[in-house]
Amino acid sequence: MSVYVCPNCKKEVTSLPEGKVRCPHCGFRLLFKKRPPVVKTITAR
Ligand SMILES: [Zn+2]
Repeated sequence: MSVYVCPNCKKEVTSLPEGKVRCPHCGFRLLFKKRPPVVKTITAR
């Protein structure tokens, strides 16, 4: 499931109507995709 962040009101948008990219909070028509923090295990030698 994708999580988006509105750059205008900084709120998270977890559910989007299909084919419509719009912030349900303020109506801003641009959303950034937010990726969950990925835990990477790096082995240093
Ligand atoms: Zn917004």
